[in-house]
Amino acid sequence: MNKTDYYKVLGVGQSATTDEIKTAYRKLAMKYHPDRNPDNKNAEEKFKEATEAYEVLGDAQKRSQYDQFGHAGMNNNGMGGGGHGHPGSMNMDDIFENFGDIFGSMFGGGAAKNRRKKGPQPQAGLSLTKEIEITLKEAFLGTKKEIAYHHYFCCDTCKGSGARPGTSAQTCTTCNGSGEMHFKQGFFMYAQACGACSGKGFIIATPCSTCNGQSRVQRYDKFTVNIPQGIFDNAELRVSEKADAGLFGGPAGDLFLRINVKEDKTFKRDGDDLICNVMLTYPQLTLGCQVDIENIDGTKHTIKIPKGCPVGEKIVISNEGFPKLRGKTRGNLIIITQCFIPTKISADAKKKLQEYSDIVGTQASGNDGFITSFFKKFLG
Ligand SMILES: [Zn+2]
Ligand SMILES: [Zn+2]
Repeated sequence: MNKTDYYKVLGVGQSATTDEIKTAYRKLAMKYHPDRNPDNKNAEEKFKEATEAYEVLGDAQKRSQYDQFGHAGMNNNGMGGGGHGHPGSMNMDDIFENFGDIFGSMFGGGAAKNRRKKGPQPQAGLSLTKEIEITLKEAFLGTKKEIAYHHYFCCDTCKGSGARPGTSAQTCTTCNGSGEMHFKQGFFMYAQACGACSGKGFIIATPCSTCNGQSRVQRYDKFTVNIPQGIFDNAELRVSEKADAGLFGGPAGDLFLRINVKEDKTFKRDGDDLICNVMLTYPQLTLGCQVDIENIDGTKHTIKIPKGCPVGEKIVISNEGFPKLRGKTRGNLIIITQCFIPTKISADAKKKLQEYSDIVGTQASGNDGFITSFFKKFLG
């Protein structure tokens, strides 16, 4: 069938931002909204067409699929449940179910609830985010952490119905399930929450005694999560459906674990490389030497400092850094040479150093003063 390009339907360019798409859709939805165009089939079609376009272009994943494959890529993704993918097959109830939040602000919340299905509707539970602090060494090696928190579980007694076993929720007869009482004044509809059901649209006459009709209960939960080696600071791990259970059997939200890697006194991370300093004396740097160093996980390495090694030289031990998240290789361990300057030395060492200074022709003050000759040499 011939379908109009979704971008044309919304009147936006292919490069439009999500906000621009949303704004364009809101404008069209305002114009063709059924509340403003009663019994106008053409407006209803336009409204549905715009909604279908928005349903695709407003969703990053569907949009990229559409950009690649056009309407052909949208099979089974269209609205209307069965994925018939043409506006005429869409059900107005579905539209309001899915886009109630957008209409909510435009029509005072009335439109979405107005067409609500009867009885308690499953609603998705909220996602939760928890922070986990780990050390750099734990990030290097991978670790396990116990997560302990309160969250909602679906009530076992009523299986999430909210009603005592053997009973069920009844549609509110006062508002006929809409949850609202409606008043029309000229062009606009006014709505007020139904007093009989407190705006819920249904009444649970005999609520489940475990959850008091809430369909879910809050409980303490704990489990152990594996934190993979190589994880970065601020990375987020998603644990599916470990957050709040939905209302009335709705799906549970996901638990997000945000990883906070503490700073280490000795080691720093740079991408997949691990960096540390090695303190050496002036003779070691000048004459060259071999020193033992310890990686963050305790493994020892003997490194060779070449003679005449400058301060700040990088000595790279390849494949001893962080394990790369993708692939089997690792980053490097990078050791940066530093010169250890003692603040106190023995009288003997001081004498020898003085002698050395004389030999190389510098004049070092013996009384904690300035090294004046250093400046002399350069300033002439
Ligand atoms: Zn219950
Ligand atoms: Zn009611």
